[in-house]
Amino acid sequence: MKIAIIGAGSSGLTSIKCCLDEGLEPTCFERSDDIGGVWRFAHEVESGRASIYESVVSNTSKELMCFSDFPYPENFPNYLHNSKMLEYYRMYANHFGLLKYIQFKTLVISVRKCSDFASTGQWSVTTEKEGQQETAVFDAVMICSGHHSEPHFPLDSYPGIKQFKGQYFHSREYKTSTGYQGKRVVIIGMGNSATDIGVELSRTAAQVFLSTKRGSWVIRRVSDNGYPSDVLANRRFHNWMRNILPSDLVMWNTEKKFNQWFDHVNYGLQPTDRSQFKEPLFNDDLPSRITCGSLLVKTSVREITETAVQFDDGTVEENIDVIIFATGYNYCFPFLDESVIKIDSSRTYLYKNIIPPNLEKATLGILGLIQPLGPIMPTTELQARWISRIFKGLCRFPPINEVMDELEKDRKIFIKRYGTTRENRLQVDFIEYLDSLASDIGVKPNILRLFLTDPLLALAVCFGPCTPAQFRLQGPGKWPQARKQIMTTWDRIIKSSKTRTVKSQGPRFVTAALLLAILCLVVLLLSIFIN
Ligand code: NAP
Repeated sequence: MKIAIIGAGSSGLTSIKCCLDEGLEPTCFERSDDIGGVWRFAHEVESGRASIYESVVSNTSKELMCFSDFPYPENFPNYLHNSKMLEYYRMYANHFGLLKYIQFKTLVISVRKCSDFASTGQWSVTTEKEGQQETAVFDAVMICSGHHSEPHFPLDSYPGIKQFKGQYFHSREYKTSTGYQGKRVVIIGMGNSATDIGVELSRTAAQVFLSTKRGSWVIRRVSDNGYPSDVLANRRFHNWMRNILPSDLVMWNTEKKFNQWFDHVNYGLQPTDRSQFKEPLFNDDLPSRITCGSLLVKTSVREITETAVQFDDGTVEENIDVIIFATGYNYCFPFLDESVIKIDSSRTYLYKNIIPPNLEKATLGILGLIQPLGPIMPTTELQARWISRIFKGLCRFPPINEVMDELEKDRKIFIKRYGTTRENRLQVDFIEYLDSLASDIGVKPNILRLFLTDPLLALAVCFGPCTPAQFRLQGPGKWPQARKQIMTTWDRIIKSSKTRTVKSQGPRFVTAALLLAILCLVVLLLSIFIN
């Protein structure tokens, strides 16, 4: 079977590998001249390609966000700068020999159903390279083109921007803090881009204002006892508890935990509508910049004039030099007929968040159009493993009525958990989503059997971080080193931060307890003596 893969970012690379694992014939089309997608930093913004700033560091940690059978080198830090991510992708591509399947500088112009689609499920894919167009027929298509290249730039909502005399642009144009020294900057939006950029600029700019409609919870990368926050949060046991306990109790506990670091009310950050879930921010420095006063949190923008910005609470900030719209992204698939995928402002309609439900044949999937509460890479990898087996007929694709029923069921659960905001429409629960794909493939860890055959491993799977290797313990694509990988997770996490060997000197409380005991004895003796 010939498979067209669109895009050679992380999803595209793992799709090539998963196709090869299943004996399929992949051809990957990449519009630029290199791999890496969103994680390949460029000093200039390139049209149609995702653009990141130079300082971007991952907000999930390496043990959780690796591909399931290809761990990061042990000397890589827990959270990775974009250059390290790219280095990892190069290693992955070289190790599995993926580069020869990629046609670089090749833009996909259109993906259309062949005239006999209802019987063959084939697609006609037209590409353009150096001005030459070419069309070829493929048995299936995997779309891995990402969803961070089309900026959501709501200038219409800010008519005053036309008279603003300073500089304004979307966050995708931001590259480094050079040139903002001494400036007064307003950033609109409160996602991870806004806060990363705000924190960075607050070190050199005269003043940074962060304007938010809804506020947000903020999570540290470095969590309890110095462990990465995501490895502590993404554990099967926690997930079970979250599902068993009443949701109000879970939310109360979660908010308590968020506020243990700092009180979000006192920092102007607490989400206004706490019933509507919002992707948390990952930022270790934000409260520190706020408490130092170099970054101030403001309400929504009411009006923009030639030189000033007025906020909804009536306050006005004068002499503004720069306004950055960190207002997120839209997604679109310009090469795809609109009848193939239905997108609306509150939800995407894809079976398992991958396949458009209305296709006569399940031969097209959109990978990575998803926002898990965990890392995206192992998620798209499992999507690729799942869909390549759907293409081969090794995984069951249900009849349309079952598909529609499941979509409706998912929609109801989704709205209850995440609400209906535009920003949440791609949200999924990390472990539950992975498990649902893994069950179909036959690679979901069988916990009961593990407890009977390998209790130590079972404990690590239940109570340890839900690392991607858990989906390589059994079934198709089983990886012999998966067990070792799981059992040594904590060692690697510590190893990458403990680059200076320090001898543990034993707990100080032993000395403290001894002193306390002596003190008690003295008090006792004195009281006996005095009486
Ligand atoms: P985003 O998460 O979509 O956030 C955009 C924010 O803009 C919204 O939360 C909203 O904030 C505000 N907004 C949206 N429409 C608006 C409007 N019409 N007017 C005013 N404000 C509006 O976008 P992003 O921050 O660019 O992030 C995109 C994705 O990349 C996210 O998944 C993010 O986690 C990821 N990312 C990751 C990293 C990293 O790994 N280090 C860094 C950056 C981004 P309010 O409702 O609060 O106003």
